[in-house]
Amino acid sequence: MSTPKYHRIVLKLSGEALAGAQGFGINPSVIQSIARQVKEIAEMGVEVAVVVGGGNIWRGKIGSEMGMDRATADYMGMLATVMNSLALQDSLEGLGIPTRVQTSIEMRQVAEPYIRRKAIRHLEKKRVVIFAAGTGNPYFSTDTTAALRAAEIEADVILMAKNNVDGVYSADPKKDASAVKYDELSYLDLLKDGLAVMDSTASSLCMDNNIPLIVFSIMEEGNIKRAVLGENIGTIVRGK
Ligand code: UDP
Repeated sequence: MSTPKYHRIVLKLSGEALAGAQGFGINPSVIQSIARQVKEIAEMGVEVAVVVGGGNIWRGKIGSEMGMDRATADYMGMLATVMNSLALQDSLEGLGIPTRVQTSIEMRQVAEPYIRRKAIRHLEKKRVVIFAAGTGNPYFSTDTTAALRAAEIEADVILMAKNNVDGVYSADPKKDASAVKYDELSYLDLLKDGLAVMDSTASSLCMDNNIPLIVFSIMEEGNIKRAVLGENIGTIVRGK
């Protein structure tokens, strides 16, 4: 069997990735495909932590544009990530993969609270850990959550799974035919060129803590495994 290049990973799934083509809510066949891909790498012995977004259900920015208090709208977004996390847990457990959800906002009847040492213990015992409810703070994103948790659990890499693009491009490939895909980039390039891969808080956190990031498409089944094996898929972002 092939040997993984990365042993402890954070997989960042945007809410949109769970919605599939319908663009809203949770698409059962998409979530099952993701669960199968996670199972594949978990069975290779890779320690998998997952951060799930919530944009398929609610985004704080939309609420605040509607005139809502931004913090309230953001808490709604964090709750959306919990729904997605429970759906993913259910799919993973359906495939026989032991999984724990930890939330940054306490809701003990639903899931464990986030406790760093406990999360690491679960990973060591080869349980998939899903980090839900973002950082627990308004004004942040689940990309920042992925960067923060990756630093905390000393992950080797963040795998950023996209459903609408297969890497980082110089411009939006759907709008600009001359857009070129990058194989490799630095975090400073991302920040300097304003490439919309992740928000600047998340990029800075990754840069300052030397956490590499692989941006790739989740739509092709087997891509998570390819990324973990170190195959050249998508775009790798690292260094300054
Ligand atoms: N959110 C937040 N703090 C966090 C993480 C998320 O307030 O630490 C809220 C924010 O409103 C955001 C929503 O949760 O719009 C959903 O997260 P995100 O937009 O990052 O999800 P994705 O784009 O990955 O689906």
